Amino acid sequence: MSADSTRFAMPCRMCGRPFLYVKGNPLPKHFPFCSRRCKMADLDNWLSERYVLSTEGELTEANEDGAED
Ligand SMILES: [Zn+2]
Repeated sequence: MSADSTRFAMPCRMCGRPFLYVKGNPLPKHFPFCSRRCKMADLDNWLSERYVLSTEGELTEANEDGAED
């Protein structure tokens, strides 16, 4: 038996940084993103229909709760 078989590294859809997802547990709060910042950044992309945020440095204004652990 391998406990590791229930753990997966999921890439954030926004920044690509891997975060851990444990099978059987509730999905991470910001799934499929690593943080609220990435979630909101992706939403903004959808609303604007274009990528205007090219670097993480430009996301600082959206760093409200920075749940990056
Ligand atoms: Zn991310």
